Amino acid sequence: MDLKESIKDLWKDIYGTGNLHFCFNCSTCVSGCPASHGDPPLLVRNLARKVILGLEEDLLQDDTPWACVSCSRCEEMCPMNVMPFEMILAIRQWQCRNDETRVPPAIVEIYKRGYTQAVGVNKELRESLGLPQLNTITDNPEQLEFFREMLMKTQVVSDNDYMFGG
Ligand code: SF4
Ligand code: SF4
Repeated sequence: MDLKESIKDLWKDIYGTGNLHFCFNCSTCVSGCPASHGDPPLLVRNLARKVILGLEEDLLQDDTPWACVSCSRCEEMCPMNVMPFEMILAIRQWQCRNDETRVPPAIVEIYKRGYTQAVGVNKELRESLGLPQLNTITDNPEQLEFFREMLMKTQVVSDNDYMFGG
């Protein structure tokens, strides 16, 4: 990590609308994150530090945001309402904006089901606890089809449509 290369206002570009600066590095988001056991691990807290410190090159090369399985646990657990999952999505968008040739590692999975990996929404558990069911894109075929059509219009996907059965 080279702080000499840092860009002070990078966070505004990436995730300027969030509560990112309230992050106090507690690591709660990492402890509950299923992707934190991956190889390489997704370490949400570290990503938050990289955004705050403005480590542009580091972030552009970091593929770990694409390992997020969209379970939203970090969102529910963060004591400072940083909304880390939103930050992950913002980093992905920012990476793609900065490099239009980038083919995200999980793009085929995202195209197939709207998520990088199957999302366990614990339907039975939520029901037994009286919690409302989560609405995911995979439960909504029309929304998923619409999403696929949108993806197919992006250059990075249409240029590589052989990967998507096109
Ligand atoms: S849980 Fe929230 S406050 Fe704690 S490190 Fe993660 S983002 Fe920061
Ligand atoms: S939403 Fe993504 S980053 Fe957050 S806990 Fe789930 S897998 Fe980890």
